[in-house]
Amino acid sequence: MAIEKKPEKAIDEASLTLICKACEDGVDLSWDRFERQQPQCGFGLLGLCCRHCSMGPCNINPFGDEPSVGVCGANADTIAARHFGRMTAAGTAAHSDHGRGVAQTFLAVARGEIKGYQIKDEQKLLKLAMDFGIPIGDRSIQDIAIDVGEKALGMFGQQEGELPLLKRAPLKRQEIWRKLGVLPRGIDREVVEMMHRTNIGVDMEYHNIIKHATRTALADGWGGSMIATELQDVMFGTPMPLVSSVNLGILDKDTVNIIVHGHEPLLSEMIVAASRDPELLALATEKGAKGISLGGICCTANEILMRHGIPIAGDFLQQELAVISGVCDAMVVDVQCFFLSLPSVAKCYHTKIFTTNVRGMIEGAIHVEFHEHHAMETAKKLVREAIENFPNRKGGEVVPKDKMDLVAGFSHETIGYMLGGLFRASYKPLNDNIINGRIRGVAGVVGCNNPRMVPLDDYHVKMVKELIKHDVLVLQTGCSAIACAKAGLLVPEAAAKYAGPGLAEVCETVGIPPVLHMGSCVDNSRILMAATAVVKEGGLGDDLSDLPAAGAAPEWMSEKAIAIGQYFVASGIYVVFGGSFPTLGAKKLTEYLFNGIEKEVGGKWAFESDPIKAAHLMISHIDAKRKALGIDTAKERVLLDMGDRRALD
Ligand code: SF4
Ligand code: SF4
Repeated sequence: MAIEKKPEKAIDEASLTLICKACEDGVDLSWDRFERQQPQCGFGLLGLCCRHCSMGPCNINPFGDEPSVGVCGANADTIAARHFGRMTAAGTAAHSDHGRGVAQTFLAVARGEIKGYQIKDEQKLLKLAMDFGIPIGDRSIQDIAIDVGEKALGMFGQQEGELPLLKRAPLKRQEIWRKLGVLPRGIDREVVEMMHRTNIGVDMEYHNIIKHATRTALADGWGGSMIATELQDVMFGTPMPLVSSVNLGILDKDTVNIIVHGHEPLLSEMIVAASRDPELLALATEKGAKGISLGGICCTANEILMRHGIPIAGDFLQQELAVISGVCDAMVVDVQCFFLSLPSVAKCYHTKIFTTNVRGMIEGAIHVEFHEHHAMETAKKLVREAIENFPNRKGGEVVPKDKMDLVAGFSHETIGYMLGGLFRASYKPLNDNIINGRIRGVAGVVGCNNPRMVPLDDYHVKMVKELIKHDVLVLQTGCSAIACAKAGLLVPEAAAKYAGPGLAEVCETVGIPPVLHMGSCVDNSRILMAATAVVKEGGLGDDLSDLPAAGAAPEWMSEKAIAIGQYFVASGIYVVFGGSFPTLGAKKLTEYLFNGIEKEVGGKWAFESDPIKAAHLMISHIDAKRKALGIDTAKERVLLDMGDRRALD
């Protein structure tokens, strides 16, 4: 029995319409299940519950009374640090296993073992080869690609040395990591060691546990995630700005609707091609449909948006709503961020839920296993299944009208081209505008939705609006980008409407939105690269920690967000989380993460449940960095005539 749906659960009309429909249809949503979980376990929320061995589970009293230690003697800081470390390991594993899958496919493509994929961005391949120390000379693209694929795949099982992509970071940053002994040796090695250390009776010292969490997280951001982004760009193309649309209003009552959901683009790239296949389009017409519409949820959506402009149906908490519309003929999931509830929601409608990856199966879904060797075959089968399901709609469909335009496709390379010109890509104009104060600083706002935080998207949108109002340029990925796109912040016109005068002037001159969509969750590595490009351009210090920059995951829910936050902190960035924070019951550990760690790595964490206050924490940090750089006082604008300019040359 569904409980009452309150209109304050979302800020967008499309979601509200379908939340109400779910209520009428008697269908449970994540918000209902969240309400039924209340009150949630306070020990768990504060990081004070341990069940790492069968002497437990053990809970620590957060008010200083007994019990103050677990059966093995572990105290609050140890227990919360171990939990934090395991979350980092799980997040790193998720991003990196994605990266491994891409590397395996890439290598098979390079060796000519797989058809259907190709090497689209040869320039990016060559840059990557140089970063890997692979000779180029007059070697063929295929030979270079094979070496790149082998090197990338080798980084997962590497046992000694340093991951090669860490060398992309500013030299000072590399030295900080080297001195601290946190340079990751191999991706899998750090994840495995994190699991070992957090086993009963191993690492009990919270600093030491967090130190390894840092090493593990760096293996994600500058390792597994970066490999995924780079090789996907080489195979599928580096994104360039494009226009598309977002929200559940992209569903079309008259066409076959296929929703792809999850994270990996290996299958969805093929589904994009299959949905344009003339034979399948003819079959759709035969079944009474006016075409085939493809849309996405979560990061699979972001992947095919960035490269093909495929519209986005919604963010994480809209996955069930897409089914509730009654017009979703097939939902195809790959890995990560889908709900077990999907098949039971789908039972009330006609939607077929397909799982496609052996690592991500759901009871009640139809499993059509994806193998890259038969990628197009699988994609066509799935599209055909959706078409065949079109006539089975049960009636009573509701397609919300609401959708919004957005501009996406801002890779770090694109930002350089847009600012500096196609033939002289450069971050200099960005640096100049930060130095002259038109742009106060840069914020990366990323991450999920969480039913803990209602209304849906509200924290993301309020925080981002506050940041751009104060002239902070916002870079986004993941569901946070989708949330802000729905609110109309990812179009160039948003600059005049919402941005402060300095940021608006820059955006209007260049023709960019004040909020730049940089892709999926693994594409947070693009933000690392953009920040590194700013440092290397000069004038804003010599390390990432010198930059007037900050990060946030306003409505985070996934362990992956902890891994991302920790690699940004470890890279010298100030990171604010909303909703909850998994160590708040452990005083010494939290003090270390929120303050002490800054002395070691230059970055630190913060938690703030109010979006406006959180934005101002970030702005204050940006202002402090501006002051340290000596760029806190507005420079008078000097208008130069031609004579002055010649004198400067
Ligand atoms: S590892 Fe220690 S704190 Fe955790 S459940 Fe076992 S005895 Fe309890
Ligand atoms: S932002 Fe969070 S919810 Fe959204 S796709 Fe990424 S991990 Fe999943």
